[in-house]
Amino acid sequence: MSLLVVGSVAFDSVKTPFGEAHEVLGGSATYFSVAASYFTDVLLVAVVGEDFDHKTADVFKNRPIDIRGLQTMPGKTFRWRGEYSFDLNEARTLETCLNVLADFKPQLPADYCDCDIVFLANIDPELQSYVLDQVKKPRLVACDTMNFWIENRLEALKTTLKRIDLLVINEGEARELAKEPNLVKAANKIMAMGPSSLIIKRGEYGALMFSAAGIFAVPGFPLEFVFDPTGAGDSFAGGLMGHLSRSQVHNDEVIRQAMIFASVMASYNVESFSLDRLRNLTYADIESRFAEFKKLTHFETL
Ligand code: AMP
Repeated sequence: MSLLVVGSVAFDSVKTPFGEAHEVLGGSATYFSVAASYFTDVLLVAVVGEDFDHKTADVFKNRPIDIRGLQTMPGKTFRWRGEYSFDLNEARTLETCLNVLADFKPQLPADYCDCDIVFLANIDPELQSYVLDQVKKPRLVACDTMNFWIENRLEALKTTLKRIDLLVINEGEARELAKEPNLVKAANKIMAMGPSSLIIKRGEYGALMFSAAGIFAVPGFPLEFVFDPTGAGDSFAGGLMGHLSRSQVHNDEVIRQAMIFASVMASYNVESFSLDRLRNLTYADIESRFAEFKKLTHFETL
């Protein structure tokens, strides 16, 4: 099974109440592909500029991540600058420099077009559609987005939404996209825009999944040390799609397990800046926190 992702590869500058990181590796496709690579083979589609050196690309090495779709273009790599206050649930974007992302029109390597699962990570929705046009017959297409695209490319985003099965967005973005403060009503409005399933990420409070099977809720893992929430959403998506990609069937049981793997990957990611924690995990770490989640949420019926 192969999982294709298109998204950003970035240099991030991030400030949290616990420290700062300047121009560290980030980007939606980076966090996603590293997280998903613990579960399945990943085909990466992204662009970097000439300032992206080989050493930085080491993050993808020795993992089942195919980087033939990682293109280098003249110019600078995408940059994002953001900060978090003591409420770590919402990033405040200070600067977005699209740089090489502005003119990126990827032609997928021929064998990428046969992938069976697609994740359209946070990137220009026009580019998400452009990639989807090239994929032949995916059995599942999921998508992420953010306020930047909701505010700047709404029509293109609506076109993408009509073509996907599952949307994964955070709470504030769900409210903004649906123009509706109540999350259940917002979910219904968003599903009427196209996706048959929707996951709303709620930062440290966990995530909600809406689908034909009803609503499923997972808590956030209670952590004593949280340093940097950047990439939590993408790591969440990586764990989610990684488990779905390695599973033959996508029944309710598997989807619920995928939500837990997603939460496990997000919880590890926030324990350090950039990908420092995420890239150094073992599968045993993942299984151990998966088991802790089971204990955390288990209760007996009367
Ligand atoms: P999240 O998982 O939601 O915390 O996403 C964090 C990542 O999103 C950062 O590493 C940023 O580089 C990336 N990012 C921020 N803004 C954008 C944007 N407009 N398009 C694509 N990626 C972005």
